Amino acid sequence: MWYVILLAGGSGSRMGAGKNKVLLELQGEPVICRAARAFTAVADGMVVVARDEDKNAIQAALEASGLMHERVRIVSGGATRQDSVWNGLQVLPADASKVLIHDGARCLVDEDTIRRCMDAVDKTGTGIAAIPAVDTIKQVNEGWQVVATPDRATLRAVQTPQAFTVELIRRAHLAAQAEGFLGTDDASLVEHMGLPVQLTEGNRRNIKLTTPEDITMAEAMLNDSPALPALRVGQGYDVHRLVEGRDLILCGVTIPHTLGLLGHSDADVALHALMDAMLGATALGDIGKHFPDTDPQYKGISSMKLLEHVVALLKEHHFRVTNADVTIVAQKPKLLPHIPQMRQNVADALQLPLDRVNVKATTTERLAFEGREEGISSQAVCMIQEI
Ligand code: MG
Repeated sequence: MWYVILLAGGSGSRMGAGKNKVLLELQGEPVICRAARAFTAVADGMVVVARDEDKNAIQAALEASGLMHERVRIVSGGATRQDSVWNGLQVLPADASKVLIHDGARCLVDEDTIRRCMDAVDKTGTGIAAIPAVDTIKQVNEGWQVVATPDRATLRAVQTPQAFTVELIRRAHLAAQAEGFLGTDDASLVEHMGLPVQLTEGNRRNIKLTTPEDITMAEAMLNDSPALPALRVGQGYDVHRLVEGRDLILCGVTIPHTLGLLGHSDADVALHALMDAMLGATALGDIGKHFPDTDPQYKGISSMKLLEHVVALLKEHHFRVTNADVTIVAQKPKLLPHIPQMRQNVADALQLPLDRVNVKATTTERLAFEGREEGISSQAVCMIQEI
């Protein structure tokens, strides 16, 4: 079973942000959550190693991003990186046979890089992400005089993940502890035992966020995906049952009829479809999420009120509807005489000119539940603009 040890213990002093850099946000998501998310598809569990004062904030961030589950633990770090990794290794469950050790501040790591490390472990027992050196590297003495210029072709800059069998990396840590050896990465502990270490191809984008410039660079990298258009389309569908003793209300118009729609609210099936289209286009869920039918405050409520609420919610998220088209499927009654008022109601609620709103009615030629007058269904589409 694959586990990840995510190191989140740095103080972030070079970042000058006044808090742990893994808690800084990149495009609205904390760095630690981005890093953790990169492993969700490949690893079975995770141990986050953090400073005591950051543990609650990290846990809250992971929970908010839906990344906490029973195989995720947060443990205290040690005095050095090596101690922190050791603390993480100590709490791995017995069924964790392989481990990816990763810097929490390398939140741009991609799945291909991770999988190359994992494949190398399966073949050799170790797999360390690395990239060819682009700069010529000089070896110097204390006075910065050049001692040697190693052949660049033989040099690699090492990143994380650094992946190992759990048995090997535990043994390497124990050996280092016994000899008082302090390595700058985990691979060096295995090297120190005289064992081979396999590097695999990393990624230049897999940078370690260390300084404010790194944040700017990371944001630029995230932004360089092709820009998405500022228009979105949404679709909604709803059905309510026709019963005796209820009003028939469609797009806010009470229509004289022997039957009405059954529901927790006023059961305005057309506005429900429209609201779902609006929430769908903006990825804000659906009306069941915003107005649960178990909540007494929505009992009998006018769906026009709910629509006003959804319009405000979209505005809050910087969206507005640019047009809407609603179809009502009902065998009876004749809806044509009521269509103008329905359009007007929807246009007013959406703050749109009338020619941006369409409401149409159709029958199913007596087929299906609508045709048998057991219920009325409605479908809606709308276009949404980011504002
Ligand atoms: Mg409904």
